[in-house]
Amino acid sequence: MKKKIAILGSTGSIGTQALEVISKLSDKFEVVAISGGRNINLLRSQIEKFSPKYVCVQEKNDAKLLSDEYNVKILCGDDGLLEIARLKEVELILVAVSGRIGLKPTIEAIKNKKDIALANKETLVMAGDIVIKLVKENKVKLLPVDSEHSAIFQCINNGKDVKHLIITASGGPFRNKSKEEMLNADLTSALAHPRWKMGKKITVDSATLMNKGLEVIEAHHLFNFDYDDIKVVIHPQSYIHSAVEFKDGSIIAQIGIPSMHIPIQYALCYPERVEGIETESFDFIKAQKFEFYEPDYEKFPSLKLAIDAGKIGGTAPVCLNAANEEAVFAFLNNEISFLDIYKFTKKIFDSYSVINNPTLEQILEEDDKIRILTRKLINAKELI
Ligand code: NDP
Ligand code: MG
Repeated sequence: MKKKIAILGSTGSIGTQALEVISKLSDKFEVVAISGGRNINLLRSQIEKFSPKYVCVQEKNDAKLLSDEYNVKILCGDDGLLEIARLKEVELILVAVSGRIGLKPTIEAIKNKKDIALANKETLVMAGDIVIKLVKENKVKLLPVDSEHSAIFQCINNGKDVKHLIITASGGPFRNKSKEEMLNADLTSALAHPRWKMGKKITVDSATLMNKGLEVIEAHHLFNFDYDDIKVVIHPQSYIHSAVEFKDGSIIAQIGIPSMHIPIQYALCYPERVEGIETESFDFIKAQKFEFYEPDYEKFPSLKLAIDAGKIGGTAPVCLNAANEEAVFAFLNNEISFLDIYKFTKKIFDSYSVINNPTLEQILEEDDKIRILTRKLINAKELI
């Protein structure tokens, strides 16, 4: 029997790699639904190749275009994503949209008893407590796709006798650059990630190390660990994708070439391990060097800010995530400088009043509020 799968964000970096994995395992998966944003041409070729029954796009005009061209049920906008999340025939949903739009469909899918392969870390950053509670109540699987979390998931066994989680970070493109060089960093240098090819938002987050901070929050929720028991280690080669330290001093790490195909495939096929897309195996002799460094929290203050937000809890990570995302979009739009991303995020964060134990509605309201506020500050160029 083929596993029936839906992919939200099929036109993105994770989405396209997931479809590459599925192409190699076509006897194992049936793609029931896909969703894209605005990349209609790529959606066209995905419709032709995978023959999904449902396709969701962001804009009405694009929905109209596609429904004239294909005999497929075309859905649209946020409601379309929710409709996919409710489809009876879907067993597993890969949530690979970027940003806050992943949250509602993930929750809807869990309530509809779907297993989730989660790439969209913002979902757990914004509403980890709510999501994890729903996962338990509905007895569904929440399978991490983020490479570090996949690594921990593969090492942790049942979580018994674990002392620490060790999350590795490549350090991004500015690891060896001075503050001065970072001050003048343009888009091209911020997007030149040394190890991973990803969507633009997460690539900029990897350059500020905000991504690692968001991943610490993600790990806290996924594995139910205190923040003080989650360590971040810079490992420029990105061969060790993360590790788990047990009480007796043993450390189990997951190692492999830096490729998202592997964690994507592991999540989609779980609990099976299969021979799929990746043929190149990791060669210790060729790799030669495994280096490790302490993160530079002074040069990369976003990492500390994110961990602080996680420790505060409530809607603090919602504020952090929304302010950062708006600031990153402004940087991508050439409106602010690279170092301004942190400055705007910090300014918003410092003046924010946290709501404890928020409901989903409060989370979404706060998220909206913070985005508007951040935009206003950016438009007014209001920095100290
Ligand atoms: P991309 O930017 O490459 O892809 C995002 C996807 O979401 C695209 O399909 C895009 O559509 C779609 N999308 C964007 N905005 C909307 C919208 N308003 N409505 C509907 N769809 C929309 O991102 P990535 O694949 O890099 O990342 C996706 C998620 O996975 C993020 O949360 C990221 O943090 C996480 N992640 C990514 C990793 C990676 O290696 N890329 C690693 C670990 C986690 P379109 O392009 O058609 O407009
Ligand atoms: Mg990651």
